[in-house]
Amino acid sequence: MTLLVVGSVALDSVDTPFGQTADALGGSAVHFAVAASLLHPVRVVGVVGADYPVGELERLAPRGIDWSGVERVEGESFRWRGKYSYDLQSRETLETRLGVFANFHPRLPPGAEAARYLFLGNIDPELQLSVLEQVTAPALVACDTMNYWIQSKREALLALLRKVDLLMVNDAEARELSGDWNIHRAGRWILNQGPKRVVIKQGEYGALLIEPGRTFAVPAWPLEEVFDPTGAGDAFAGGFMGFLARSSATDTDAMRRAMIYGAAMGSYSVSGFDIRGFEGVTVAEVEARVRHFIDLTQIPAAERIA
Ligand code: AMP
Repeated sequence: MTLLVVGSVALDSVDTPFGQTADALGGSAVHFAVAASLLHPVRVVGVVGADYPVGELERLAPRGIDWSGVERVEGESFRWRGKYSYDLQSRETLETRLGVFANFHPRLPPGAEAARYLFLGNIDPELQLSVLEQVTAPALVACDTMNYWIQSKREALLALLRKVDLLMVNDAEARELSGDWNIHRAGRWILNQGPKRVVIKQGEYGALLIEPGRTFAVPAWPLEEVFDPTGAGDAFAGGFMGFLARSSATDTDAMRRAMIYGAAMGSYSVSGFDIRGFEGVTVAEVEARVRHFIDLTQIPAAERIA
């Protein structure tokens, strides 16, 4: 299996101006896998407690999601509770309960150590590091994080950054991590910590792929209805990594295309609560949305501008 993700497998309770969920399917690895599996089979490493509705995960397996690396142990599953502002631009974490993640020691299932595309989804950076150490010859290692870990595990996070190829964060996380309000300087600061590339997601304003001396920008898909931004970043990552795994590529051109697949997946994610934005979405529909980005961004007679 080429594409591997480690991350939270959670029960989310979300409050937005348009509705609420309680103990719904969520977590970085789940949102990632649902998006990525539209493009490439994906294997998940994580842990759930005895209270997790594993039947709901199994229902997703035929999409091409291998859950055999998700341990089931005694105790409570990871739970996250958040509330969004009216414009859905900011959110407040009301509660994070690590539950079984507090004593989790990820062990890769047989064969997973040969993964070529590894996404270290948002969990404790020490756990992300321990997974990275078990993978033998990855072609691309990307990781995510969030304010919770930036504040509580900064040193482990910086140690991780020295070992990954790409960091994928949102703008607030990039600012908090770097201590710089300017997003482009923040990107450069992150590049100086080790990764060769950084992707900075900016919600409804799109996302940036920053490389030394070069930046690429993709807009967000123009949606008229947004219900729940939870997991959009992970779905973006799933589209990005799923496309690269499908293409067996890690060059800049492939990464730029991968950004479009990321943006497309992010747009499905926010169209419904928890993972319901992906209901009924087909590969053909994803490809059509990706093609539409050409019209969204093309400059007529671009050569006359220069
Ligand atoms: P995103 O909206 O892309 O930032 O991802 C939100 C997802 O991250 C939710 O499904 C949560 O369950 C999960 N999450 C929230 N806080 C944490 C945390 N501290 N560690 C791991 N996963 C988290």
